[in-house]
Amino acid sequence: MSDFQAPAGRYAPSPSGDLHFGNLRTAVLAWLFSRHTGRNFYLRVEDIDSERSSAESAQRQIEDLQMLGLDFDQPVMYQHDRGDAYADALSRLDTYECYCTRRDIREAASAPHAQPGMYPGTCRDLSEEQRAFRRSELHAEGRLPAIRLRAHVKEWTVRDFYQGEYTGPVDDVILKRGGRIDQAQAGDWAYNLAVVVDDGYQGVDQVVRGDDLLFSAPAQAYLADRLGLTVPVYIHVPLVVGPEGRRLAKRDGAVTLREMLAGKSVEDVVSQIAESLGYVGVSSVQELLEEFDPAQLSREPWLWTPQQPEGF
Ligand code: GLU
Repeated sequence: MSDFQAPAGRYAPSPSGDLHFGNLRTAVLAWLFSRHTGRNFYLRVEDIDSERSSAESAQRQIEDLQMLGLDFDQPVMYQHDRGDAYADALSRLDTYECYCTRRDIREAASAPHAQPGMYPGTCRDLSEEQRAFRRSELHAEGRLPAIRLRAHVKEWTVRDFYQGEYTGPVDDVILKRGGRIDQAQAGDWAYNLAVVVDDGYQGVDQVVRGDDLLFSAPAQAYLADRLGLTVPVYIHVPLVVGPEGRRLAKRDGAVTLREMLAGKSVEDVVSQIAESLGYVGVSSVQELLEEFDPAQLSREPWLWTPQQPEGF
């Protein structure tokens, strides 16, 4: 039973570095949509990838979002605390062990008719004898098999606020990573399982995030359906792109809040975010909330232009 009874939205960053302008803009949009529709708003720290996540990074991200004026309902949830919930969900799904290495998958995926990026199903229909053999081979190398969902559909349709109905392929997604026997507990839950289980647990029925994740929504919605969870309304928002037309990245320079604050105030940053959303002369998120109209958001990516220092 969940303690989270009210409809909610969320922002769910991975704590592997400071948030940049594009992340901050998506966070502001998630907060705006959620508060505009009277929802609770949670921050969820997606730190299942223990090699890339750090507690310091999570703390800095929280501070940055608070500095912008965003408020969250409590508690802030950390995925590293949620292993039991993921194990419980896994036990309720139709799954199978997968012994493939990344290389096996790459090679199988380059066969004719293979769909790029989709798991070709190599381990789906192995006999028990074949499984025992592959498992012992893997154990001898000190590795554990991954666990995949046995999907019973090839595609699934979701509703997206901006895209309308979106149908995409569903494959046998990884639910639990393989990994090394000696580190069996570390970082082994997969994003697709964790995100679905946690959204369901927290009552998240509105998912606002960058549109680079639209492709993952059909598999996540299918997984939610299989677990008997409410499928959220998706709101995939355009990304901020850097000067080369690619998703903004730290290498584009002076893009994190702390970097930006070297030359300007928090109000300046908020008004730059507001401007990127189509609102001019707005310097607090509260004011932005009063003016926010989802229908007005441009569907085009926002081109990041670093602002020149004063007097340049
Ligand atoms: N943790 C994911 C990321 O930082 C976002 C997941 C989501 O919003 O569904 O890219």
